[in-house]
Amino acid sequence: MKQQLNIDKILAKKSLGQNFITDKNFLNKISSYIHSNENTNIIEIGPGKGALTKFLVKKKYKSLILIEKDKILASKLAQQFIHNKKIKIENQDALYIKYKDINLFGENIIVGNLPFNISTQLLFRWLDSYEWPPFYSRMILMFQKEVADRIVARQNTKNYGRLSVSAQSRCKINKLMTAPAEIFTPQPKVQGVILDFKPLLKYKNIDFSKLQRILKIAFSQRRKKIKTNLKDYLDKLNELGINTDLRPENLSVSDYCDLTSIS
Ligand code: SAM
Repeated sequence: MKQQLNIDKILAKKSLGQNFITDKNFLNKISSYIHSNENTNIIEIGPGKGALTKFLVKKKYKSLILIEKDKILASKLAQQFIHNKKIKIENQDALYIKYKDINLFGENIIVGNLPFNISTQLLFRWLDSYEWPPFYSRMILMFQKEVADRIVARQNTKNYGRLSVSAQSRCKINKLMTAPAEIFTPQPKVQGVILDFKPLLKYKNIDFSKLQRILKIAFSQRRKKIKTNLKDYLDKLNELGINTDLRPENLSVSDYCDLTSIS
């Protein structure tokens, strides 16, 4: 007889950034940030062993879509939720899945304790959309603290950079709470932070790829003045009345977006 593998005994894979949350109060708190109704599709990224999923299942939703790359965990989740027709398991890579193909009519909310090793790549995947507003109305995501600090960093601070401008040009971002390393198994070396993203319409016509090119050049040498880093954009900077003796971290999100739109 084929022996069933106990899900609790499955070892965490470092290559897939598997740090599972075990603290039920914390999981309940994350779930409470999701305001869903019968018309909402909740998309959970990396459900793992289903710790957060067990709380999400109790919410109101049209469908609950679980995107998990790990084949064994995805099949365990499929067994676990076999009787719930509103739950769909996608054994796919969240970086490459075609979100359009998973039938997302209605309101979509993305939630996930993200694998830390690819968290910024995933975020760029969801920010870099030709259509804006995007297919989701909200994202509730856990990042490692250092990355979260860079995402929410304000102008004129050392953490402010490409990631901050990119994320803040696309979404209004709120820090919801910090996750101590002890709530994860295995325990990572860093804390986590949960952020709430709400798409912004203010810069909806910005060419995001062009913004990326400008930010890459601007922040390639943080200590240099923009008249050196952005020398190919001097006319445009002058046209916008931006002082070219400033350094890249002194320019606001609007400055970068304005520069992108006139370049
Ligand atoms: N949600 C679970 C929890 O909080 O206990 C697990 C979170 S764990 C930090 C990240 C999860 O994402 C793992 O289950 C891992 O297998 C999955 N994962 C890693 N890379 C992925 C990818 N590219 N696409 C989808 N899932 C991925």
